[in-house]
Amino acid sequence: MVAVLPDPGGFEITSNIVIIGAGACGLVAGMAAREAAFDGATILLLERDKSPSGSTALSSGFIPAAGTKLQNEKGIEDSPERLEADIMAKAKGSAHFPLVRAVTAEIREAIDWLSSVHGLPFILIDGFLYPGHATYRMHAMPQKTGAALQAALLDAAEQCDFPIAGGHRAEILYRDGQGRITGVGVRTDTDELQMIGCDVLILACNGYGGNPDLVREHIPEMAEAHYFGHRSNQGEAVIWGQKIGARLADMSGYQGHGSVAWPHGALISWALMMEGAVLINKDAERFSNEHEGYSEQAARVIAQRGGIGYVLFDERLLGLGRGFPDFVDAEEAGAVISAETPEELAQKLKIPLSGLEDTLHHIQDCHTASSVDPFGRDFTTHPVLNAPYKAIRVTGALFHTQGGLDVDERARVLDQNGIPLPNLLAAGGAARGVSGPDVSGYLSGNGLLTAVALGRIAGRQAGRMLEAGE
Ligand SMILES: Cc1cc2nc3c(=O)[nH]c(=O)nc-3n(C[C@H](O)[C@H](O)[C@H](O)COP(=O)(O)OP(=O)(O)OC[C@H]3O[C@@H](n4cnc5c(N)ncnc54)[C@H](O)[C@@H]3O)c2cc1C
Repeated sequence: MVAVLPDPGGFEITSNIVIIGAGACGLVAGMAAREAAFDGATILLLERDKSPSGSTALSSGFIPAAGTKLQNEKGIEDSPERLEADIMAKAKGSAHFPLVRAVTAEIREAIDWLSSVHGLPFILIDGFLYPGHATYRMHAMPQKTGAALQAALLDAAEQCDFPIAGGHRAEILYRDGQGRITGVGVRTDTDELQMIGCDVLILACNGYGGNPDLVREHIPEMAEAHYFGHRSNQGEAVIWGQKIGARLADMSGYQGHGSVAWPHGALISWALMMEGAVLINKDAERFSNEHEGYSEQAARVIAQRGGIGYVLFDERLLGLGRGFPDFVDAEEAGAVISAETPEELAQKLKIPLSGLEDTLHHIQDCHTASSVDPFGRDFTTHPVLNAPYKAIRVTGALFHTQGGLDVDERARVLDQNGIPLPNLLAAGGAARGVSGPDVSGYLSGNGLLTAVALGRIAGRQAGRMLEAGE
């Protein structure tokens, strides 16, 4: 039962700050709250799963940040303003600018803080550029996986002296007559309902990708799509928000992905596409400018016959792909189809040879600039595809939702008039993102950007609110 009930007038357990959700956002919020809150303040992180993982652990774990020490050491000139400009450009101006400014400034500090204070061994991904990013600014764990990021954050949070209660699903918010959240009702693994009081509540329980009804309502184009994020993300933040008069924003925005190996269910990095691969359909025809971004490709692939596409690449790009653990998994699962000639490839994929030859000739012509790509992709910057050819059967998928509770630059949840609600904060996938209301507004990394940056802002803000007795 997801509900908002009147304050019961007393709680079995209390904690000054309660955080719901132990993905990147909740863990970072907890660490930041620990630093910001007065000595002796209590912090409790509630997590529905026994062992916290979230979409964070499923992700590639790449966090965009500009102006970091790591970039400086590598001589990469970048700034929060440049990242801000890239985010606004990708969203065609529709992202909420004050939030974009706040998170792009915060993420630089957050990455340096996570690495120097909490020992996270970030590396900078500098082999290729993600669509829409002006320079190399993706920060990741050396393993280049979200699982490694989640493990490192969990490890760091566990050193910070606050409990992380796995197997605790928050179901109920309790609210007093002034609109303050006074506590949370939590369903434990043993099906008990525990009532936990709080002074400040942070919602870090991500979005509603795992709730088919909410997806159908807000993102109908992805109603039938495979959800590739964490199942526990059922949209409680949005459901509670609606019950307490909070404003929702950018609800139709989401992160999709146009190359999930199918039926293997492994992410094929868009790096291949940025370095020369193309996406074709069952008629062996391209249907988009792959360099616009992977997110908008999800619905485009689903719109093809059978909801299927093929990533077409070659031996050179196979080497690049093998640098990504997800790609290696896909290859081990038998997702990569190899062929010495277009004839063999057409036969193996059961696609028309004439269509495949036309597509390969077209790429060649665009490469030498004797043709212009009707979709607007520039093929002159990378080598053409050469035999032996490779292909992976893919579909489009929903990764996570980008809409959520409207928040200000301090992560305070806003009411219908844009006024902050008394003691409720939201961040990461629980809050609106920085991609605007359309799938095409998602710039690579916007998800973990707001999980980490807004999570840290929320943690600090919770500490401040306690101090001020707000
Ligand atoms: C395949 C894939 C690849 C991705 N790659 C990237 C990438 O490289 N870079 C990037 O920026 N983004 C990426 N993303 C998006 C990114 O994973 C998310 O934006 C980010 O992890 C959100 O963090 P979060 O902490 O808000 O949510 P999560 O990590 O999902 O954490 C939310 C937690 O809340 C818990 N929870 C939910 N409801 C409740 C409840 N009622 N009570 C208690 N606990 C609850 C959940 O169990 C979960 O542990 C990717 C997503 C996917 C699916």
